[in-house]
Amino acid sequence: MKKEWKKRTKLVHGGTRRSQYGEVSEAIFLTQGFVYDSAEAAEARFLQAGEDEFIYARYGNPTVAMFEDRIAALEGTEAAFATASGMAAVSGALMSMLKAGDHVVSARALFGSCLYVLEEILTRYGVEVTFVDGTDLDAWRAAVRADTKVVFFETIANPTLEVVDVQTVAEIAHGVGAKVVVDNVFATPVFSRAVEQGADVVVYSATKHIDGQGRALGGVILGTEEYIRKTVEPYMKHTGGSMSPFTAWVMLKGLETIDLRVRAQADNAQAVAEALQGHQALDRVIYPGHASHAQFELVKRQMGTGGTVIALDIKGGQAAAFRFLNALEIVVISNNLGDAKSIATHPATTTHQRLSDEQKDALGITPGLIRLSVGIEDAEDLVADVMQALEAVTQQ
Ligand SMILES: *Cc1c(COP(=O)(O)O)cnc(C)c1O
Repeated sequence: MKKEWKKRTKLVHGGTRRSQYGEVSEAIFLTQGFVYDSAEAAEARFLQAGEDEFIYARYGNPTVAMFEDRIAALEGTEAAFATASGMAAVSGALMSMLKAGDHVVSARALFGSCLYVLEEILTRYGVEVTFVDGTDLDAWRAAVRADTKVVFFETIANPTLEVVDVQTVAEIAHGVGAKVVVDNVFATPVFSRAVEQGADVVVYSATKHIDGQGRALGGVILGTEEYIRKTVEPYMKHTGGSMSPFTAWVMLKGLETIDLRVRAQADNAQAVAEALQGHQALDRVIYPGHASHAQFELVKRQMGTGGTVIALDIKGGQAAAFRFLNALEIVVISNNLGDAKSIATHPATTTHQRLSDEQKDALGITPGLIRLSVGIEDAEDLVADVMQALEAVTQQ
């Protein structure tokens, strides 16, 4: 892979390690271990493994290394560590950096499992966590302290699609010497410029757009060579959250087409969001790429697109939301996102069911809220499907 190659070229060819057979499609090295030529060679490799020398799949594997190199090339970081799931990446990035007595500032609007890691697990080990409204820059300024080691946020919050200003929050964090860890799932690696905007560590659930076809769980932690090798790798390889070679192969093939898929999804999302504006069955249409979004200017600056997810607030609460879901013919009811298939979710009764009513209110998770992850189907068909389902809501 050449440094000057453009991203789309890197996504097809980056990281490839071709075996002696000259295969076109990347090989799945479905092996946990590796054979050494001699006892001396084994000793030498344990002492210091070279760039393309492997010891044990929990530490590294050629197929996994291909995925890591390819996603690092896309994100523009020096290194990556692939993990068994998005949550292994989030928890690994944070746990490997923090110790008892450290302080963390986090946005409050988080994916449920991220909230659990910050609120329930880190605090159990003596890390203090302060939660703030991620869109309120003064709240970030007030919350950081000299002992703040990490700030954490999702660049676009799930499911209400509020956007955090990466550059400004990074400046605030760096002002006190804290590292910025960004869960960038909703921004997607295609539209992310998080590193140039100041993020130190970027984390993805590869389960979402990177696979993009609903097959495998995975995740990745991206950062400097120093951080990945000295901080993340020792933690991950000894605690066991590494990615399997088969999953890495699925994700590697996902990266080949991610740029095409995610751009098509974002175009479709834009079309659906525009078609729905002002619809009489809706209280709100939230889409970061539409001028009606409260942070539209920031979105344009930060991502240049609204991404692949829309939130709809349907008039008539849960009953109306359920009628809408049950009337959909193309869009499936599920809780993944970033998939080639369009997926609708009712957060209040599924992904965010665990939250109290007060917490749901605070996060804007109303009974009528639907999260719509837009896929790569034909835009006209998608608009027609959503329209006929809204029709079914109002006909009741
Ligand atoms: C899905 C998701 C995760 C967790 O990813 P898994 O692969 O399901 O473990 C973390 N953060 C965000 C924002 C997500 O959407």
